Amino acid sequence: MMYSIAIDGPAGVGKSTIAKGLASRLGFTYVDTGAMYRAIACWALDQGIKLEDEETVSERIDEVIISIDYKNGIQQVFLNDENITKRLREEEVGKGASIVSKYACVRDKLVELQQKIAKEKSVIMDGRDIGTRVLPDAFLKVFMTADANVRAKRRFDELCLKDDDCDYNTILKDIKDRDFADENRAISPLRPAADAVIVDTSSLSEDEVIEKIYGLFNSRVK
Ligand code: C5P
Repeated sequence: MMYSIAIDGPAGVGKSTIAKGLASRLGFTYVDTGAMYRAIACWALDQGIKLEDEETVSERIDEVIISIDYKNGIQQVFLNDENITKRLREEEVGKGASIVSKYACVRDKLVELQQKIAKEKSVIMDGRDIGTRVLPDAFLKVFMTADANVRAKRRFDELCLKDDDCDYNTILKDIKDRDFADENRAISPLRPAADAVIVDTSSLSEDEVIEKIYGLFNSRVK
């Protein structure tokens, strides 16, 4: 039996940590779709295409081949055969992803790839439109939420461990800007699917969220 679990939610809510934890517990493949949008941003930046220039992105999108593979269980993203995984978390790339993810040509291309992967194996896929568009028939759909201040505080604590220079208000503004862009884009805006289970993680630990979703999955299997 093949299963798919869709995890959607806003930036900084902890989707990837939870999805990775669940994937290893269930033996499923974790698919990080945000990384694919980030890869398109890398391509545009490398080619000197202005991120706001939808027309050029759309004209040249067929030049891009994105593929994913796994090394020791960790998703690796390839852009025209080059492994670009290390670049994906760069600030510039994240901001760029938020811009190019508005374009129909980008979404169509990546949704097709995501659907193809989910046909081949049991997956836990995280993103913004997994339950609403990519996997409308997912076995379980979860929409994770947490107050923007809680998300900003979590990111602040995480970043401060590495860098004393981080500023809480900048992080909060960045989170709110991404929420606005994700919720207000014309195509596949961020919203829970009608049949998604909403999980508010504001006052839950990582383990508690994993336990909760694991429980939801098991109760459906039975
Ligand atoms: O989740 P992550 O921050 O890596 O996503 C990068 C960007 O890609 C987000 O800002 C979001 O706008 C976009 N995205 C999307 N649809 C997805 C996954 C990510 O629009 N399924």
